[in-house]
Amino acid sequence: MPVEVPGGNGATYRVFDVHQHMPPVRPDGDPEPTPEKLQSRISLMDDWGIDWACLQAPGGWPPTVTSRVVNETLVAYRSSHPDRYIAAIGTVHALGGRREIEELERIAEEPLLDGVAWHHKLQGTNIDHPAMLDALRICQEAGLPAFIHCWQDSGPPEFPWRLADLAEKFPAVTFLALDSMSSMVHTGWLVQIAKHHPNIWFDTAMLSTSGKVLESIVNQIGDDRVLLGCNPFGENANFNYPAPIYDVLYASLPSESKEKILSLNALRLLGIDMPDQTASGNSVGEAPAT
Ligand SMILES: [Zn+2]
Repeated sequence: MPVEVPGGNGATYRVFDVHQHMPPVRPDGDPEPTPEKLQSRISLMDDWGIDWACLQAPGGWPPTVTSRVVNETLVAYRSSHPDRYIAAIGTVHALGGRREIEELERIAEEPLLDGVAWHHKLQGTNIDHPAMLDALRICQEAGLPAFIHCWQDSGPPEFPWRLADLAEKFPAVTFLALDSMSSMVHTGWLVQIAKHHPNIWFDTAMLSTSGKVLESIVNQIGDDRVLLGCNPFGENANFNYPAPIYDVLYASLPSESKEKILSLNALRLLGIDMPDQTASGNSVGEAPAT
């Protein structure tokens, strides 16, 4: 079902949601639900006009489960719908010591996953904990992007200035600041920081729409580092409709910028060629002005 906003120029867009979480794993390590049963998420993507998604591990997981089990489950989810989940971002625990470093080395050496994500508040630590230095050294050597949650509600552990410190120490790592537009304060700080750190990119998850956020960011740092993120998690989703898609479509931005935000920037970040066809047959776009 095409999703259209009125009063546009008739342009249609392919949509790549760079921020989706797989459902949690149970304390015994089993996936919940099984990857084969995650058809409800695919149906929602069809309803919303999302062609492709980058799937992440959950931000936290039971202490009885290792990150390796989480990452292997993530690979199984992606493999269940490879034409829709065209990328997957693994995870390790920031405070897990040698075991987690070895798992990160496995991610770097084996062609399993496309990057590494952390949600530090859920791991009980800060974005810039010293343990992150060894992890990011591996990311830098392997060319793995680091997806870092900067969610307003996480408070001090995920304050944006902590990300600036890491971006300066690891200039060859691309940092995707997830949930970074979750408040005017976070957006304001991150845009100022990003002016000095070209390796910080943004996603639109948790978008706080007050203040024409997208137009403000594009005006200040351009349209090459803003990616669509909708952030469904759980078996289905934690919201009723994907607000960021509509905010991009309605934004006072040229079609070229919307195309970058809705798919091209994420494809470039992850080194993926544009798939030949939309897997869903859906589209989002701007209805011609009447
Ligand atoms: Zn997230």
